[in-house]
Order: sequence, then C-alpha cells, then structure tokens
Amino acid sequence: MATTIQAIRGMNDLLPDQSPAWQQVEQVLRQVAAGYGYREVRTPVLESTQLFKRSIGEVTDIVEKEMYTFDDRNGESVTLRPEGTASCVRAGNQHGLLYNQIQRLWYMGPMFRYERPQKGRYRQFHQFGIEAFGMDSADADAEVILLSARLWKLLGIADDVELQLNSLGSNEARQRYKAALTEYLLDYKAQLDEDSQRRLGSNPLRILDSKNEQTQKILENAPSLSDYWDDESSAHFNQLCQRLDAAGIRYTVNQRLVRGLDYYNRTVFEWVTTALGAQGTVCAGGRYDGLVEQLGGKATPAVGFAMGLERLVLLLQEREKLAPRRDVDLYLMPMGEAAELRAVTVAEELRDNLPELRLVVHCGGGSMKKQMKKADKSGAEMALIIGEEELAEQRYTVKPLRNQDPQQRLDWQALLERLQPLTRG
Ligand code: ATP
Ligand code: MG
Repeated sequence: MATTIQAIRGMNDLLPDQSPAWQQVEQVLRQVAAGYGYREVRTPVLESTQLFKRSIGEVTDIVEKEMYTFDDRNGESVTLRPEGTASCVRAGNQHGLLYNQIQRLWYMGPMFRYERPQKGRYRQFHQFGIEAFGMDSADADAEVILLSARLWKLLGIADDVELQLNSLGSNEARQRYKAALTEYLLDYKAQLDEDSQRRLGSNPLRILDSKNEQTQKILENAPSLSDYWDDESSAHFNQLCQRLDAAGIRYTVNQRLVRGLDYYNRTVFEWVTTALGAQGTVCAGGRYDGLVEQLGGKATPAVGFAMGLERLVLLLQEREKLAPRRDVDLYLMPMGEAAELRAVTVAEELRDNLPELRLVVHCGGGSMKKQMKKADKSGAEMALIIGEEELAEQRYTVKPLRNQDPQQRLDWQALLERLQPLTRG
C-alpha cells in the first residue's frame, strides 16, 4: 500500500467541525473593522525577500531564523510573508494610497514562520491586522486600541485579556537609550543568558523581554526607557493614556515591552492572556512612523496591530465563547421515486424563499428508518418528509428531531412559516 502523505509540520488543516468557529470569529472581526471605517486589503502571500529584510530588520528573530525564503525558478529570492504590515505598506506605496492621505485598512490571512510548533505557535498561522495611515496624533493610537478592545467585548473575553502599554520614544531617543542600555549591560555580559549576550551587539532592546530569570534580575537596575523619551513622545503617550482613561480602557504600563520588530516608534502595546500558557500574546501593535519612508514611500505616519487568530480561537474555546450556528436546519426525506422528483423542486423553492435556511436533501433513497438515521446524524433540527400521501395532498410533513414536539402536516404557506424560525438557529 502506498504511504499516506501528511501535511507539513506546523501547518494545520482546518476541518469542517472547526471552520464554523473560525467563520464566527472572522465575521466579528470584519464587522468591527468596518464599524470603525476600515477597509479590506488583500496582498499576495509571496513577496520579494528584500521587503521583509528592509522592514522587519536584519537582526530580528523573524528575519534571522524564521522566514520561509527560497529562490524561485528565475533565481530571485522570495519569501512567504511572515507578517502583514510590510506587505500592506508595499501595496500602499505601489498603488499611491498613502502619501498625503488617510487610509484605514485591515487584512486577514495566513502568515508563515519557521518556528518550533507548539500550542499557539505554528508554521502557518493566521493574522487579522489593521493599519491606520496618515495620522500622527494620539487619537489614532487610541482608535486602534479601542477597536481591539471592542473585539474582546463582542467576543465575550474582555475580562480574559490585559492591555500592556509602552512608548519607545522617537527613533533618536531610542538610539540614545540603546547606547545607555548596552553600556549598562556590558558590565554584566558574562552573567547574561546566551541569547542576550548575542543581542547585546545587535538588538539590545530585545534583551528587555528575555524570559531568563538572571537576566531579568540584572535588568532591574538598568536605565529606564522612559527617562530617554523626548518631550513630544512623552506628550503623545500622555494623550494616549488620557484617551484610554476616558474610554474606560484599563492598561498596565510595561517599561519592558519593546516588541520584536525594528520598525516601531512611540506607542507599542500587547494584549496578553494567562489562559494559553507561554503563548500569551493575542494581539500586538504600535506606531511605525518611519516604515513607509523606509520602504521607499513619502514619509507617512502609521499605527496598527496584528492578532493571532489561532490563539484567539484557542482562548475563545477555552472560555467556551463559541456557539456557532448549526450546520443543518432541515433534512429533506423523499419516500419513493415520485417524491424524489418532487423533492428537487421543493428544495429549490425553499431555498428561493428562505435563503438562510440550511437544507440538506437526502440522496440515494432508502427506507424511512435509514433516512431518519441520516437525518439525525446530520444534526438537523427538523426533518421534512414527502411521501405518497403528502404528494396527493400537496402537503408536507415536518418532524422535529431535537424535541418531543408532534409532527405536523402543513400546506406550502404554513410550511414556510414553520421553517422561518429555523433560519435563526
Ligand atoms: P511571539 O513573541 O509569541 O513569538 P511575536 O512578537 O513574534 O510573538 P508578532 O510578530 O507581533 O508576534 O505577531 C502578532 C501576533 O501573531 C502574536 O501576538 C501572536 O498572537 C501571533 N503569532 C505570531 N507568531 C505566531 C505563530 N508562529 N503561530 C501562531 N500565532 C503567532
Ligand atoms: Mg515570534
């Protein structure tokens, strides 16, 4: 026997039993994004490698070791996108959407990172993200965070996620802080964990979110990022906090929050949960005023976030917040050849009249007992039976499958009325 082929490690199939939960989440995401005036953008999953190297930064985890990069048949280096922001900016620049304009955009789709697969961490995963271009005031930062907060509220997990907030200051402030932090840490170099030692020369800010205990201990007396903020960044941060306070959004200022990507400045934030073990960040974002220009466009301020949908769905399942609509409302059972013929038109007319109805027509005939078994297994709320008597009377028998209500024989109009409520199931 031939061996069966398996999916690539860390890349998941989404099977029909799970897809309704995802559709439900996606529906809420779309609705909320639209509710804040955001419009969808879809970009290719494959981009030139240079795009991510130039935006995410050469010395980040993603670019150093997580990208799916290969040469195409023409010898050009291409990469499966590891995140959405770079592509969004690339598309915005390419099509002239950004300069001197305000754009509120969202995207959703698969991302690819070569990581060690575990709960909440996969090699193909999905992100929903929003990006607001052309607004440099703290209103925009607040809007982006409010939008995310509304998602938690609508999904019923507002109490399960916590907002952590920080500011990186301006790029110059960050450079000065980088130098001060490096100088401080050099004295303790030998005591730092291996990763942090390596980062000391390349990306010292990343040391701040090291999980190593001893490194964290050393960091306790390190210079503080907020001491290096420039006045404008301080004011920006205060304005953001005021707006969040006004909206009743709770947050913790976390001075160690720096984010893994190079392109952020000023505001950075994460929504974290304790419900998912080590993979606790559900949504992460911030301001990236320099990126558009860095990718060849005219300077355009921007702020946004990305959220991991696998982690979000895991959290919703953990909290039992997903109650998707049932797959089948009605199972149509024709008894005999003539009824089978009639069932075709009845089914199509039902679909004309009740477009939301989920109707499965039994295929292949068989006894009442056999068909009833299939009806039950389908999960349908009700069965619709057409037999000889029904044909003669031009009426239809409906039989509830999930409760003890009696079966009824109804004419066409009464049937439509009886089925209408099913479509809200
Ligand atoms: P982490 O610290 O968990 O590796 P990150 O900083 O690399 O996260 P971002 O690049 O900010 O993550 O991506 C935004 C969100 O996308 C994360 O908060 C997370 O929810 C999700 N995410 C990132 N990488 C993965 C992955 N490999 N599998 C599943 N979800 C992921
Ligand atoms: Mg990561």
